Amino acid sequence: MTEADQGAYGPSWYAATVVATPERPPLTFDIDVDVCVIGAGLAGLTVARELARRGWSVAVLEANRVAAGASGRNGGFVAPGFSERIGAIVDRVGLPRAKELWALADAGVEYIRSTIAETGMREALMHDGRLAVRSVDDADAVIDHAAMLRVDFGAEVEAWPTEQVREALRTTYYFQAVHFPKAFHIHPLNYALGLAAAAEKHGARIFENTAALSLDPAGVRKRVATPQGTVRAAHVVLAGSTGIGAVDAPIAETVIPVSTYQGVTAPLGEKLFAAIRYNGAIADDRRAGDTYRIVSDDRLMWGGRISTRVSTPWRLKAMLRNDIVKVYPQLAGLEIEYAWGGVMAYAVHKMPQIGELAPGYWIASAFGGHGLNTTAMAGEMIARAIMEGDDRWRLFSPYELVWAGGRLGRATAQLVFWSAAARDGLHAKIARYRDRARREAEERQLRYAAEREANRIAAEQFRIEEEGRRIAEQEARRLAVEEARRQALERARLAAEAAEREKHERIEAAQRAAADAAREAADAATMLARQIEEYKAGQAGAAAPAPPATSAPAAPEPVDPVAEPAAPVAAEPVTPPAAALDHHHAAHEAAAAEIAAPLPTEARIEPEDMPTPRKARRKGGGGAKTAENAAAVLGAGTPPDSGR
Ligand SMILES: Cc1cc2nc3c(=O)[nH]c(=O)nc-3n(C[C@H](O)[C@H](O)[C@H](O)COP(=O)(O)OP(=O)(O)OC[C@H]3O[C@@H](n4cnc5c(N)ncnc54)[C@H](O)[C@@H]3O)c2cc1C
Repeated sequence: MTEADQGAYGPSWYAATVVATPERPPLTFDIDVDVCVIGAGLAGLTVARELARRGWSVAVLEANRVAAGASGRNGGFVAPGFSERIGAIVDRVGLPRAKELWALADAGVEYIRSTIAETGMREALMHDGRLAVRSVDDADAVIDHAAMLRVDFGAEVEAWPTEQVREALRTTYYFQAVHFPKAFHIHPLNYALGLAAAAEKHGARIFENTAALSLDPAGVRKRVATPQGTVRAAHVVLAGSTGIGAVDAPIAETVIPVSTYQGVTAPLGEKLFAAIRYNGAIADDRRAGDTYRIVSDDRLMWGGRISTRVSTPWRLKAMLRNDIVKVYPQLAGLEIEYAWGGVMAYAVHKMPQIGELAPGYWIASAFGGHGLNTTAMAGEMIARAIMEGDDRWRLFSPYELVWAGGRLGRATAQLVFWSAAARDGLHAKIARYRDRARREAEERQLRYAAEREANRIAAEQFRIEEEGRRIAEQEARRLAVEEARRQALERARLAAEAAEREKHERIEAAQRAAADAAREAADAATMLARQIEEYKAGQAGAAAPAPPATSAPAAPEPVDPVAEPAAPVAAEPVTPPAAALDHHHAAHEAAAAEIAAPLPTEARIEPEDMPTPRKARRKGGGGAKTAENAAAVLGAGTPPDSGR
């Protein structure tokens, strides 16, 4: 970019990223053309292109450089509609005419899109979509508005709820929004330069640094004077916006020049994406509200503020930075690399001035802050009116040229703007306050609900733990009882086994004892029998000379241990000799002792009444009987079987 470019386009990001463009020489001669266009902004360039491409000769006079005015400095939003709100238009002209006006404005959007496509201006088109966000919370109003645009005007729009808006734009500054998916944004300087090139391609001649100084609209050939040449033309189109005072002061008095500003940040990287996740153009609904979009991937272009002062504020960068951070505090610390201003023309009614002022004398002006689509629409419409007599421009006749009040009008406009801006600001503040209060209340409610839920969960957990403990204790008790029962059974089983074992031992012992007793009794009987034999033998020896007094005793019967004791044997008294008597006495004693030993009991002993060996001895009594028998036998000196 040359120094001249820098001077014309200002310190803008557009100038820093402009496509190469030739410098066009000024008009230094007189020239005759079909149409003379005053002003090479978007309005003038569109008229020129449309006429030129249909073979008309066109001369464009530009006081500065092509698109050095608002057309090369604006925010680049291309969307349907006008500066005036659609509701106010309906109020003024009625719905049917409002629909026609809207259709024209919509055609302006398509004109830009198709021109970019036709001319291959890749450097001009940027991104689709426009989001008109609301700074006050009114979902119903947004839905109504979107429905009205869709139904009455056939606009393709969507109503976005606050949540969706805040998902795309990470700020609590906004509520609902109307989304225009078919709108888009452009690099307006590159677009205007592309348009100029397209017009020139079809033969239009553009003279830069050539101000129109005066105009004589009378007659068939109108004359426009410039510093170094005159243009004579059948038609003159006034497209100089706020710069036409010298050409037609009364007309110039019908607009108010309004300044507005743009800035572009240094690259913000990921921070920008974290704050803004929408690639279209964003505009809030306040008068002179903020307008912004992402450019060059990670820079933020921010526009806003208006003033009737034409000069650029010296603190512009700081002002724009504050405006950004107010909405997106997360971007604090950003740096504004480019900042510039531009001047727009506003009519009192905020609608464009489009029409024929006098035969062959046309005006395309006062596009205000909505000039991209409307300049395209106006340029195309005036070209057709000139060429074909198309009189659609008459649709704008309700918006006649109204004196804007001159200096006083400007001062009034500033006051009106300030008070309106203050009102908007107040409404937005109240809405934000309400929103904050509502969100705080909601957060509080959520907190309470969370606490309640946490308490409920804790109580439930406690209950479950208690229940678990209770069940565990119950189970432990049940197991303990079972164990005790099992141990008792085990002990009983062991005791039964021990008892059984002991019973068997006792039986065995009893059997052993019975066997011993039987054996002893048998031995005693044997011994007794032998003693009796010996005694008898001794008796027989002593009484040998004398004939025996009695017949020889019969051998003793074996003793039946279980038989009833035998009745004492009746024997005749015998008197032994003294020595024999002593010996006899000792033998008697021994036999008695032997015989006193227990007798064998019954061979079969019932387990239930198992006598112990000692008991058997005591109980049996057989031994005592045997001893008695023996004693009786010995005492009587009679063999036990004598007398039988
Ligand atoms: C900062 C800013 C942001 C904007 N953002 C948007 C936006 O996002 N979307 C949107 O739709 N609109 C926007 N606008 C509005 C839009 O840019 C304008 O409405 C539109 O560009 C007006 O175009 P124009 O051709 O009528 O005027 P201009 O672009 O101002 O063109 C007028 C031209 O006439 C020339 N001229 C004046 N007097 C004479 C003379 N006597 N002799 C010769 N030449 C003369 C000037 O030098 C100038 O080049 C914005 C405006 C500004 C300033």
